[in-house]
Amino acid sequence: LGSKLQDILDRVGRESKLTEAQVKATMREIRMALLEADVNFGVAKDFVAKVSEKAVGQEVMGSLNAGQTIVKLVHDELVETLGGKAAQPELKTQGNLWFMVGLQGAGKTTSTGKLAHLYKSKGRRVLLVAADTQRPAARDQLEVLGKQVGVPVLKVQDGETPQETKRRLEEHLKTDYRDLVIVDTAGRLQIDEALMDQLANLQAELQPTETLLVVDAMTGQEALNVAQTFDQRVNVSGLIITKMDGDARGGAALSARTVTGKPIYFAGVSEKIAGLEPFYPDRVAGRILGMGDVMGLIERAQQADLKAMEQQKAGDFDLEDLMNQLRQIRRLGPLGDLMKMIPGMSRALPEGFSVDEAQLQRIDAMISSMTFKERRNPKIIDGRRRKRIAAGSGTSVQDINKLLKMHEQMKEMMKMLQKMSGGKGMKGMKP
Ligand code: GDP
Ligand code: MG
Repeated sequence: LGSKLQDILDRVGRESKLTEAQVKATMREIRMALLEADVNFGVAKDFVAKVSEKAVGQEVMGSLNAGQTIVKLVHDELVETLGGKAAQPELKTQGNLWFMVGLQGAGKTTSTGKLAHLYKSKGRRVLLVAADTQRPAARDQLEVLGKQVGVPVLKVQDGETPQETKRRLEEHLKTDYRDLVIVDTAGRLQIDEALMDQLANLQAELQPTETLLVVDAMTGQEALNVAQTFDQRVNVSGLIITKMDGDARGGAALSARTVTGKPIYFAGVSEKIAGLEPFYPDRVAGRILGMGDVMGLIERAQQADLKAMEQQKAGDFDLEDLMNQLRQIRRLGPLGDLMKMIPGMSRALPEGFSVDEAQLQRIDAMISSMTFKERRNPKIIDGRRRKRIAAGSGTSVQDINKLLKMHEQMKEMMKMLQKMSGGKGMKGMKP
């Protein structure tokens, strides 16, 4: 339960300056978290090296201990690397032309529709240009989105040259004034020279004020390559990361941002037309580290004696451990978000298991009604005993079954986490 972060917090000296050994030990953990979040291997390595260099010899911050200080430094550096604050593309009063590029399926067409929706609501006069002539359905897809948003769509015709496209666009704008034109382009499944040439030619003709690279958050390791190639060929000015509503922790964002150095303007968070948000580096930094609101947790952790938490070995996680840990967690205060902040916890909790104080109290009551032997080895709890425990704790047999199942799942999860951390046990990463 939260042993990863727990470990970082525990690996604490009370020296006033961070030592190389402390930094090294914690950074191993951080590097693992980055790789798990699908940050490109080289990017993770460079990032860790950079922060390590900064961290060694730094003063331990105020009320924090060494481990907490390192986590804070890492978090802050990650936020900085991701761009600091949320950034917005620049908009002039007129003559804005945005060029959308990216691999097929990245979410260009969807994001084009979302941008139209967003900027129309900000009072912009938007025109969409459907320049994906690769697939016939692509232009229709954009036309549907245009109708939905209520903005016109200019369709590029088959075999049309970039010069002709530019001429038709200028003609359109003469009779129908627009201050923001967004051009949706073709993508291929992989980087493709012919496609890149085609894009570069159209770009050279239209002279966009922004060239926005759309990157699928699920791209993982490949994101670095994609971003680098597009940036070299069409000089990207900003990034949009899509599908952040999925499981991806955001490593692709860090990779793409690091390799291009270009701002990430937006995050796609659903398939719907309104599913586009500003990109918030601090949120994504926490997500990449798999620690939720890291600083929030650190602050709250200081109020509790986390060290008193019983250390347990994976695979040996019994109900007694579960009860002790839940008690420790309850002492930390508002529970709503706390459980979710603990790495692995959100995954360990079964679907539909909501965390609230009343429920934790019930779990506590149930485990308290078991014998010590049963807590060590729940397998021996038969039907008759389940009834008895339910009666003793004021719950139902169903509740007992649910608890035992949850415990089984958590135990499995701990074993898995153990394997993932290289079989070194839940403590993982010993220096
Ligand atoms: P394109 O080939 O780059 O134009 O990609 P599309 O815009 O056609 O999107 C490909 C698929 O990804 C579609 O099914 C979209 O609905 C989906 N999609 C795009 N952006 C998002 C997003 O932010 N979240 C989710 N969940 N799906 C998205
Ligand atoms: Mg498309």
